[in-house]
Amino acid sequence: MLGKAEKIEKSAAAGLLDSTLPFMNAPPVNLGKICDWLGVEVYTMPCESFGAMFSLRDGKKFLMVNERLQQGRFRFSIAHELGHILLNHEPIRHIYEERERAIEAQADAFAAELLLPERFLRGDCAKYTVAELIRRYKVSRQSLELQLSSLRLIPKGTPSGAASRLPQRGRPSPMTGGVLQHK
Ligand SMILES: [Zn+2]
Repeated sequence: MLGKAEKIEKSAAAGLLDSTLPFMNAPPVNLGKICDWLGVEVYTMPCESFGAMFSLRDGKKFLMVNERLQQGRFRFSIAHELGHILLNHEPIRHIYEERERAIEAQADAFAAELLLPERFLRGDCAKYTVAELIRRYKVSRQSLELQLSSLRLIPKGTPSGAASRLPQRGRPSPMTGGVLQHK
């Protein structure tokens, strides 16, 4: 059973997908179209100190993303920050500021749901292997495995017994490391 908080993130992501999926041939989920639709401007820059952050200026929302991140992390960081925006979290005011763990977990759950929508993944699991799903959804292996585990889905070609070794949701996960306030 889902916790109450997780339901809020799931419904926020589902609502956003309902509004934006008609504009794209998903998967992969087109984050550029989603940012356009939300009126969020995205800027990329090379950076050592953070993955992504959002800020508000004159009522406009801006996303800064570290262009050195690998594709899966890059996309997850954008989706994570969109989670903060959609879930009405406060913007970060200082680069090394930390948010509460619960807030970060919410943004992570939102990101997983946005990038790996259950409505696609359920059908695709019968057709594609893990490696194919990673390419199809343009996500990291870890994001995919967490979402598969959370939805209790087993992709094509997974050896029997391997599913029980998938990472479990709730464990600390290095995939959140792309976001500025994480180590
Ligand atoms: Zn965050």
